[in-house]
Amino acid sequence: MYPAEIKEYHKPDSVEQVLELIANHEEGESLLLAGGQSAMQAIKSRMLRPQCIIDLQGLQELKTINDESETLKIGAMVRYCELVKSSSLNNNFTGLKDAAAHVGDRQVRNRGTIGGSVCWNYAAACTPTAVLALDGNMHLISSDGEIKVICADDFFLGPLDTAKSESDILISVSFKKSKTRSGSAYKKWGLVKDALPVVGIAAFVKLDSNGSCCEARIALTGMGVGAQRAAAGETPLLGSYGDPQSIEAATENICANIDAPTDLSATSDYRHQLIRSIGAEVILTAFKRAST
Ligand SMILES: Cc1cc2nc3c(=O)[nH]c(=O)nc-3n(C[C@H](O)[C@H](O)[C@H](O)COP(=O)(O)OP(=O)(O)OC[C@H]3O[C@@H](n4cnc5c(N)ncnc54)[C@H](O)[C@@H]3O)c2cc1C
Repeated sequence: MYPAEIKEYHKPDSVEQVLELIANHEEGESLLLAGGQSAMQAIKSRMLRPQCIIDLQGLQELKTINDESETLKIGAMVRYCELVKSSSLNNNFTGLKDAAAHVGDRQVRNRGTIGGSVCWNYAAACTPTAVLALDGNMHLISSDGEIKVICADDFFLGPLDTAKSESDILISVSFKKSKTRSGSAYKKWGLVKDALPVVGIAAFVKLDSNGSCCEARIALTGMGVGAQRAAAGETPLLGSYGDPQSIEAATENICANIDAPTDLSATSDYRHQLIRSIGAEVILTAFKRAST
């Protein structure tokens, strides 16, 4: 289908100009365009009918990864292919690298951005799931100049829904660097290699000086509700060394507490099996990465 008529196209080169353009339009009239990998489909199908497109490609300030002493700050316009290659994501943040590497095909990874992915929060998206497990913070500015920082637990509200308001622009996603050993991992299973996940799981573990787990975060995707925490799976890992019994208890707890839907891609039972197999692999990998 062809898009409905779009009256204006702007390619500003500063955040201030973007905010001004947003403020000059009624709510819902303008649309921020990042990599276009979700937005263009929505415009073509007329699910979105913006009158004005504000292309963020000119915003160099949103295209950098800042590896600071205590924080890793990733600009909203950093693309998946750049996340995959970035050495700043080694160690603590390999789960985010895994997620970026799992997104779609090479063309999607060359255009799609971390900002677009978290703002869209598709029902079966990879990156928001890793951002949730890694306890990321979303940094936003609204058109009236208000600066907001929203943690992942409060940001992802449901499929295609986040705590971002229409007049907000996402500037960056940040992560606190762990002072002790930590590791993370993400894996998805889709009907074909490049497809959206039927089930995707991200895990993060932090170890104390004895090597036992003092913090764990697990997040899931593919259940039809967008990125969601799987807190029931975290408790059995606390105090453990990543042994098979604790990992099995974690995945069984997730299955017992998660509403896994049956749809055209998979039955509920099949999704539970995927949670068991992918979950075990991802949690074990997070422990191994934390230990090395
Ligand atoms: C063939 C195909 C396969 C795919 N497979 C996968 C997959 O396996 N896993 C997966 O996770 N995803 C997959 N995707 C979706 C992909 O991840 C998209 O790139 C992503 O959802 C959107 O990122 P984008 O940069 O393209 O954003 P856009 O499509 O440009 O924008 C998406 C939304 O975010 C808003 N937005 C973007 N940037 C900002 C900002 N800085 N501030 C405020 N709002 C903003 C836009 O206004 C829009 O509403 C696939 C897409 C395609 C086309």
